[in-house]
Parts: sequence; C-alpha cells; structure tokens
Amino acid sequence: MRKKIVAGNWKCNTTVKEGVELAKSVNELVLTRGAKDVVVVLGTPFTHLISVVDAVDANRVNIASQNCAAVAKGAYTGEVSAAMIKSTGATYVIIGHSERREYYHENSEILNKKLALTLEQGLTPIYCCGEALAIREAGTQNEFVKQQLDETIFLLPTEQLLKLVIAYEPIWAIGTGVTASTQQAQDMLAFIRGLIAAKYNAEVAKEISILYGGSCSPANANDLFSQPDIDGGLIGGASLKSEDFLAIINAY
Ligand code: PEP
Repeated sequence: MRKKIVAGNWKCNTTVKEGVELAKSVNELVLTRGAKDVVVVLGTPFTHLISVVDAVDANRVNIASQNCAAVAKGAYTGEVSAAMIKSTGATYVIIGHSERREYYHENSEILNKKLALTLEQGLTPIYCCGEALAIREAGTQNEFVKQQLDETIFLLPTEQLLKLVIAYEPIWAIGTGVTASTQQAQDMLAFIRGLIAAKYNAEVAKEISILYGGSCSPANANDLFSQPDIDGGLIGGASLKSEDFLAIINAY
C-alpha cells in the first residue's frame, strides 16, 4: 500500500532558532493531534538539519533537505553532498524543485546525478516535476511532464523507482495562491501513474506515492486529498505555520 505523505518545504525561510521552534511545534501537534497514517516530512534549510532532527520524534516526523550536490565530494565550494545530508539524520531529499530548475539551471543531467547520489545513500528523493503557465495554456502539459520523467526517473530500474516519491507541482500554482483545480491535479497525477504503469507495470504504479504541490492550504487540502491518485502534498507557504500544516496533515 502506498503511503500518504505531507511534506513541508520551508525554502529559504527561518533562522535555525525559528526553525527548531517550528519543528518542535509541528512535532508536538503531530504527536498529539496528527493523523496517524500520514507520513510527515519537514524540508528545512541545510543549516537546520542537525538541530531539527534532534528536535523531533524520528518515529513520527521525518526531515528532508531541499537539495543536494550533484557530486559525491571534493573541491566544490559551498556544496552539500548526499552523504553529508545522510550524516545529519535527515532521510528525504527534495530534488528538481522548479525554483532550482529555474534559478539554478538544474537540468535533467544534473538531476540524474543528484538522484543517483541520494539513492546511493539510502535517502528518499522527493522528485518534483511540473509545467509553467505558458505550457498549461498551450495544453501541452502532459507531453512536457512526460519528457521530464522520461529524461530522469524513468531511466531508473524498478527497484530504485520504487524508492521515490514524486511531487507534481505546476509552476503557475507555486506560491501564487492559485491552486490547480482538484480535477487538474487528479488528471495529471493519474496521467503520471498511467505512465509508470506503461513503462514499468501496474503494481509498481500502485505503490508509488505521488503528491500535489502548489498553494495547497487547509482550505483546499481536503478536496485535493480526496482524489484517488493524490497521495498527499508538498507544501510551501502553509508549512511555515504549524497549525496550518497540521490542518493539511489532517485533511485526509
Ligand atoms: C513548493 O514550494 O513546493 C510549494 C508548493 O509552495 P506553495 O505551497 O507555497 O505554493
């Protein structure tokens, strides 16, 4: 049975002190009032990882980095490797977020290196895909997302693909307050699951958690999560407020 997952992406927000306070608050709410069958993940800045891992109950709250280096180690000033992330106690890595693709020019070749290094460390990649507004308006979003997947995760063998979480995040919905309609989100996630079934098989497609991300909030999470192919959310803005994040976790 595939997992239901709600993962927060704090992006470049909070100091270490603020982040630890937020993590403690989420942890407390999840332990006391959180839906038991939802996997909770907090995607924090690199600087916070060790402290935040220490601040939460590892049985209930998982920690993710938002990126990792495309190299294993060496003379790459400023980079943080998958092995370093693993050594903090974090267990997930967000890979291919549209902000990294757009602002840091991360293409499929780079993402494949990150995927390989992350998997090698036994970390779980949350692989992001999704189209820009112009592509959605042209009606070619399915072809676009298929190409993103064909060039990256669909090159992985079955046993590695099964270790991934996929997050579909239409760029036009990220941080804009414009959510994809429940039907648009469901249609794309069903399309992605269909691609996995065609490329691998139906059993594999059934096992992989596929999340929706893009202005997900306590107001729309219930509707989104009620869809058969939506296995949870990748949450940006609303993950910075512990009560809102809890409400999304409990939206199932
Ligand atoms: C994100 O950054 O992954 C995201 C979904 O952001 P927001 O929820 O703020 O749209």
